[in-house]
Amino acid sequence: MTFQKKYDVIVIGAGHAGCEAALAAARMGCSTLMLTMNLDSIAVMSCNPAIGGLAKGHLVKEIDALGGEMGNVIDRTGIQFRILNRSKGPAVRGTRAQADKQKYRLAMKEVVEKQQGLDVKQGLVERVVVEDGKVIGVETNIGVQYQGSAVIITTGTFLKGLIHIGLVQYPSGRAGEFPSEKLSDSLRELGFAIGRLKTGTPARLNGRTIDFSKMSMQPGDDPPPFFSFTEKGHPLRQVPCYLTYTNERTHELIRGNLDRSPLYGGVIKGVGPRYCPSIEDKVMRFADRDRHQVFLEPEGLDTEEYYANGVSTSLPYDVQEKMLRSINGLEEVEIMRSGYAIEYDFAPPTQIRHSLETKRIEGLYFAGQINGTSGYEEAAAQGLMAGINAALKIQEREHLVLARSESYIGVLIDDLVTRGTLEPYRMFTSRAEYRLILREDNADLRLRQKGRDIGLVDDAAWDVFTRKMQSIEQEMARLRTTRVKPGSAVNEMLEARGTTAIVEGTSLEQLLKRPELGYGDIVTLAAPSEPLAPEAAEQIEIQIQYEGFIQRQLDQVERFSSLEGKKIPLDMDYAAIPGLTTEVRQKLMDVQPASIGQASRISGVTPAAISLLIVAMERKKRGKVAG
Ligand SMILES: Cc1cc2nc3c(=O)[nH]c(=O)nc-3n(C[C@H](O)[C@H](O)[C@H](O)COP(=O)(O)OP(=O)(O)OC[C@H]3O[C@@H](n4cnc5c(N)ncnc54)[C@H](O)[C@@H]3O)c2cc1C
Repeated sequence: MTFQKKYDVIVIGAGHAGCEAALAAARMGCSTLMLTMNLDSIAVMSCNPAIGGLAKGHLVKEIDALGGEMGNVIDRTGIQFRILNRSKGPAVRGTRAQADKQKYRLAMKEVVEKQQGLDVKQGLVERVVVEDGKVIGVETNIGVQYQGSAVIITTGTFLKGLIHIGLVQYPSGRAGEFPSEKLSDSLRELGFAIGRLKTGTPARLNGRTIDFSKMSMQPGDDPPPFFSFTEKGHPLRQVPCYLTYTNERTHELIRGNLDRSPLYGGVIKGVGPRYCPSIEDKVMRFADRDRHQVFLEPEGLDTEEYYANGVSTSLPYDVQEKMLRSINGLEEVEIMRSGYAIEYDFAPPTQIRHSLETKRIEGLYFAGQINGTSGYEEAAAQGLMAGINAALKIQEREHLVLARSESYIGVLIDDLVTRGTLEPYRMFTSRAEYRLILREDNADLRLRQKGRDIGLVDDAAWDVFTRKMQSIEQEMARLRTTRVKPGSAVNEMLEARGTTAIVEGTSLEQLLKRPELGYGDIVTLAAPSEPLAPEAAEQIEIQIQYEGFIQRQLDQVERFSSLEGKKIPLDMDYAAIPGLTTEVRQKLMDVQPASIGQASRISGVTPAAISLLIVAMERKKRGKVAG
């Protein structure tokens, strides 16, 4: 049967990508349907009960700045918040939170269900329906067809998911859930290339059988930081994590059973996550290390389950138990859910454009783990952008592509569509060439306006932002124009902070440039009429103290922007460009770069090839003008 209502946007999957995609499309005014296999597993955290971390925290703040949901939900359901790398420079600090996994899931379920313009339904999608190269809907396993002008696929690890525990294997999308067996066949029939990747997760342990007294306690920050720029509070009780270590005995057990590890051995065909390696991988790759960290992370306030972070494994159950019991504090531990590896189908992401729309089928978008990424934040970021772009296309507005110089989301998507990925891709600060201007603290300064322009930032959030901007501007002006005279009180403070005394009138701005001083010291010399909010004060401190570095990076962006601005026409005929090698020509045809900047980032595309491409573009333009 064909369902009576016709939607603008249909989202398949209700994981981290699916929820953001559906919310964005609906909030932008599109009638939207989110179809998912099981309504009880909306926004489930398949692996670690945590959001954020290095570079991932940046993504969450950018999602929030654009008007996405992840930051709000984790603020409401987090049970421990920390800023990682606090002692390092502001560019590499990352906010991380432990989540109450079930409360996170239920909170997101409530948000999507209450969203106006969004229908949420249970259904297993098996086929994408296409007519004349354009998507027109989807069909479920019980024969219901839903019609939509755009379809966003966000199916995570579910496409032909196959779980491995030791040498036992069985089809599953995630522990305890069905796989999606037919959808990737439908994509293959439509001409998409499909690859295979793998990932793994550790066992979940019974907290009543863990001796925490043998471990070191890891409390969160007090006060806990926020992800959302419109912070509303942390309603849940905050709890600690615990740290212990593997030892030589653990490693011996692992080495002795490697032939039974599908993650390490050759049983799994898919490529695994180099950046979240299994304990088998770590023991073999870092053979000189006599121990590895294991963090015991609570899965929630109302459960005894603990996530054993650091010992992701696909070893057989009996070896998992022995290995865990060899660890200090886990001698008596009971496994509640065993660790496992999963392999799954993905669609190599050079098949999509920066808008996340597929090149092959108009109106069809891919987002999240289906594009070869790993991680909730990477998935959510893509989901948000796919939802935004599907809505913009339906409204006949120009799509939104974020530049590498303005966001980690831009880096993520550009990396995927330009270079593809042969292994699960996760975000790192080292992937961003303009790290100093892409900080967590200024994500709102970079992206709030864009979120507002597309209609995702509501009046209340916009008001918070404009007030913050005003207070920063006013305070910057005050610091520039207020001078302090040398005097005993001033110089005593300066000397106490280990910096030289002043001998003439000096502006507060000049003083704040000194690395020994913080904004807190400056206001003791001359306070503003109204005290500043901490995030505005932080912004001022960073902008003034890192001004030189920031300016240098902005100059670099300016230099490269001319390459990014040189747009390559969609109908560029690479086969007709003389002088290109077959390899370069093939890569350009596969990726279809949007600009000379993007073309220059494709691996193997040389500066000489770029020159030939620029000449060909000039010729084409002149030909058109002459024609
Ligand atoms: C075992 C395991 C280990 C992992 N380890 C790590 C790790 O170490 N580090 C890390 O960063 N990330 C890890 N992850 C990945 C992380 O869970 C995902 O990257 C993230 O959840 C992907 O989000 P998503 O929205 O793309 O997909 P998911 O969160 O997987 O959501 C997919 C959604 O699609 C639905 N669905 C699937 N097929 C269909 C269909 N045909 N019809 C309707 N609905 C469908 C599902 O029901 C689900 O709601 C791991 C995941 C697993 C399963």
